[in-house]
Amino acid sequence: MIIDMHAHICDMRSPNNMACAPLTAENLVERLDADGIDKAAVLPWAVCPEGVTFQMLFAPEQDVVGQIRAAARHPDRLILFGNADPRWGGNLPDTDFSWLLERFVEMGCVGMGEVSANIYFDDPRTINLFRQCGKWKLPVTIESTGPGSGGYGFIDDVGSPRFERLLRAAPDTIIIGHGPGFWAEIAGGLTPEAKSGYPAGPVSEEGSIQRLFRTYPNLYADISARSGYNALTRDSEYGVRFIDEFQDRLLFATDVCYADADELARTGQLALMKRLLAEGGIAQAVFDKITCKNALRLLRRYGRAYT
Ligand SMILES: [Zn+2]
Repeated sequence: MIIDMHAHICDMRSPNNMACAPLTAENLVERLDADGIDKAAVLPWAVCPEGVTFQMLFAPEQDVVGQIRAAARHPDRLILFGNADPRWGGNLPDTDFSWLLERFVEMGCVGMGEVSANIYFDDPRTINLFRQCGKWKLPVTIESTGPGSGGYGFIDDVGSPRFERLLRAAPDTIIIGHGPGFWAEIAGGLTPEAKSGYPAGPVSEEGSIQRLFRTYPNLYADISARSGYNALTRDSEYGVRFIDEFQDRLLFATDVCYADADELARTGQLALMKRLLAEGGIAQAVFDKITCKNALRLLRRYGRAYT
């Protein structure tokens, strides 16, 4: 079985790319069929004001609950996630999210994300939300960027010191790394500008994520989007070693944002895993973990009755 751990079903167009085809639950299932993927986790977008592009407000399912209900029409194919912004409920460091998280669990959600607020990873409001997600056994997928505000995704400095503080402050919460600010850290010697981009070239020294994986058992990562694909392919020899060492923490995922996305966006990550398997770079057991077994292990609520 193959599980895409990072999919969307909302209208992610912006006013300057309205020619793209928006996502729906139905065309997501069509994509899974076409690309040989059994299931996909649907991450509602966009709960954070920085991620909202205006046409989304006019879309059929422009809110989190609408997207969960739409995904729930395909229970055998789509895995439900909730989502929240750490600033919801009063913009306080001690907001009680339990009413919301309980509703998500009742609806069948088994994870949260992608949480993409453009605030610090170690902001008390972030830590508060993430700790509560852990109490509800909900893993959280994050979106990340570099230093300074602007755009969407959690803000961090080179070396991921703020992300590390969050991992340490919420040890009972499984946190799934994603986005440029996370994956640029596969290599050391990063400039602040490169952290929010897609740095190329060989990985001549480790970045922060190897150390974080070795130190914090609550850290996982999805290999989706250009950021994940770039990190694993910028130095193909090192990429194989990285996948092998962290085979228990990596999750196949795509992050397809449009129904008419190009071939690389749709199938790049899966084609990479299949190629490495065929060439003997990774074992079948590693392929199975990354494409399915790791996801099933961390989705502690998936397939289980409400408890
Ligand atoms: Zn995404």
